[in-house]
Parts: sequence; structure tokens; C-alpha cells
Amino acid sequence: LDLRPTSLLAVCERAAKLVEARARDTGATLHLELPATELVLDLDMPKIQQVLLNLLHNAVEALEPTGGGTVTLRARRRPRDVVLEVEDDGPGLTSPDAPIFDPFFSTKPEGTGLGLAIVHRIVTDHGGTIDVDSHPGRTVFRVALPVRLGAA
Ligand code: ADP
Ligand code: MG
Repeated sequence: LDLRPTSLLAVCERAAKLVEARARDTGATLHLELPATELVLDLDMPKIQQVLLNLLHNAVEALEPTGGGTVTLRARRRPRDVVLEVEDDGPGLTSPDAPIFDPFFSTKPEGTGLGLAIVHRIVTDHGGTIDVDSHPGRTVFRVALPVRLGAA
């Protein structure tokens, strides 16, 4: 891990930009809810970029079968960590206890099943956590990253 002071807003905006065209192609709307003030924390920027992209791609892919829909990327500061959320209003997980973070678990015909395994690895390497809350019509992946890695 190559940790450097990183603008979380810049990472979010860049990830959104990279997924925008793909969202537009499927008719999905991409929505950003970012804090007004800058958040700088020690992150491995390309790896966190990868986390956001993998989550955003899954959200867009979840909306593809129906067309339309909304993907929201949200960031907020809490006292000890920052929370990044990727939400979609697609059909949700096929099963509540599907091992979605395991490598090679995929419900997609052409899926690699690696996206969320990589996400999980990068987030835990940063000392963070990830969880998912999914129902038909609303799925939220929530990543929490500590503001000062290793601080008491
Ligand atoms: P892949 O995208 O190649 O299938 P991932 O590791 O990225 O692999 O995702 C694993 C599985 O988790 C997906 O195949 C899908 O079943 C489920 N999943 C992930 N994100 C979502 C989402 N936003 N909505 C519904 N299911 C999802
Ligand atoms: Mg994926």
C-alpha cells in the first residue's frame, strides 16, 4: 500500500467521470452527493479509485436489464472515519447470503467475480470496513475508511 495524503473529493469525482459514459449508455443517471469541504486522508489513491470503480460498475450493471435508474455516489465525514456509499435502485442481490465478496462468485454470464473480492481486500488493507444493505429496489455498498490510519 502506498499511502499519501489524498483528496477524497478528487477521487470521487474522477471515479464518477470514468463511469459516466457507461452509465449514460444504459440510461442510468449518476448522482454525486459530496461534502462541501475537502476531505484529505492517507490513501493509496489508485487502489481507492479501483474500489469506487468496481462498486460503480456493479451498480450500473445492476440497472442494465431494466434501463434507467439511478446510481448515487456519496461521501461523508464522521468523527473517526469517512464513509463512501455507492447506491443503486436496481433489483438487489439475488440471495441475501450469496458469498459476493468471495473471489469468482458471480451471477453474471460473463462475470469474473473478482470485483468485490478486490474491493474487500483494498478496503481491509486500509484498515477499513465494507458492508452491504440490499433489498429489491435499493442496494447500498458502504465503505468506511479510518481518517488516521493506526491512530489510537
Ligand atoms: P462480477 O461483477 O464480475 O459478477 P463482483 O465481485 O463485482 O463480480 O460481484 C459479485 C456479484 O455480486 C455479482 O455477480 C452480483 O451477483 C452481486 N452484486 C454486486 N453488486 C451488486 C449490485 N449493485 N446489485 C446487485 N447485485 C450485485
Ligand atoms: Mg463487478
